[in-house]
Amino acid sequence: MDIYVRQGDSLWYYSQLYQVNIQLILDSNREIQPSQIAAGQRIRIPGFVGQSYQIRRGDSFWSIAQNRNLSLDALLLANPNVNPNRLVVGQNIKVPLRITWRLVQGKQHYDFSRMMSDIARLQNVYPFLRVTNAGNSVLGNRIPEVLIGNGSKRVHYNASFHANEWITTPILMTFLNDYCLSLTNGSSIRGLSTFPLYRQSLLSLVPMVNPDGVSLVLNGPPENETVSNRVIELNRGSTDFSGWKANIRGVDLNDQFPARWELEKARNPAQPGPRDYVGERPLSEPEAIAMADLTRRRDFARVLAFHTQGEVIYWGFENLEPPESEVLVNEFARVSGYEPVKTIESYAGYKDWFIQDWRRPGFTVELGTGTNPLPLTQFDEIYEEALGIFLAGLYM
Ligand SMILES: [Zn+2]
Repeated sequence: MDIYVRQGDSLWYYSQLYQVNIQLILDSNREIQPSQIAAGQRIRIPGFVGQSYQIRRGDSFWSIAQNRNLSLDALLLANPNVNPNRLVVGQNIKVPLRITWRLVQGKQHYDFSRMMSDIARLQNVYPFLRVTNAGNSVLGNRIPEVLIGNGSKRVHYNASFHANEWITTPILMTFLNDYCLSLTNGSSIRGLSTFPLYRQSLLSLVPMVNPDGVSLVLNGPPENETVSNRVIELNRGSTDFSGWKANIRGVDLNDQFPARWELEKARNPAQPGPRDYVGERPLSEPEAIAMADLTRRRDFARVLAFHTQGEVIYWGFENLEPPESEVLVNEFARVSGYEPVKTIESYAGYKDWFIQDWRRPGFTVELGTGTNPLPLTQFDEIYEEALGIFLAGLYM
């Protein structure tokens, strides 16, 4: 919600008036020098929207504020051009409405366009979120990154490296929404107050690494006939893409990283297809390049890549992981009930490369059990398991 500064106001006063943490207000108005705010300047108040309300007989600003548990001045501030002593029946005013519910409805067919519109809606209500573009897919779809937090511990979570594991995207988006909700409302999640997490960490989220692949699984082949014919051919003539993990060119993005890539190449298919093809060379695909570039740029302290399925957490690579990895994975296992697995015969994954090049903790989390794509009936249960890991990744 936008308000306009009056003579004598301060951001600290707004924080008191709307009961929103001052840091969230500062981070929602980054272009502003807090010591130099001037009358007439626009300020964003996170976690609120200005709801239109039509004056009825007997209304006063006082009664409207009281009915909504708002201070009178919160209402006056939202209506700078309304004279509260001359309200007219039928007149429209703006009532600050605190958002206490989720904007993201994750338990549905959650495709690229839904994610993009949810990111825009969240950013509108929670302007302390920053959105960047990590890169673009083969078909030119954006790979957005959402940043939340004001701290120095840089934590990264990503989802939907694999197309038919797309449920990981709404799971991660739901967490983003719940984190925002708890911050602006000062509420806790599982007894944990989240503002300390916000102050200590900077969380980077890439909720859909493989937008073209997810679109293929959810919406079928793209309009472009050449691309469509090619992808059906790679799928052995079938238009059922439920087994498709790769990007639109038939390259498995989680086999693209320069971490013993040759070993992965030797044990995997030699041709593009629905899954496990490593590509012509490491980092040949734009989606993998985008993730590598982002990871180098951000200097993450730890990364967690969310996949389905198996209820296991992979945490090692060639004994290159630091001792901290084991401490972390034990906490992730405790809060989720998942099983820690140090290594399997698998190489060239995102977390493998991260562990190898940074010697910092990297994890592949396999959410849920069953056959991919996991059904939405599992959404709530998976979210509960993942939530513990999302939180532990920040507080540990
Ligand atoms: Zn996967």
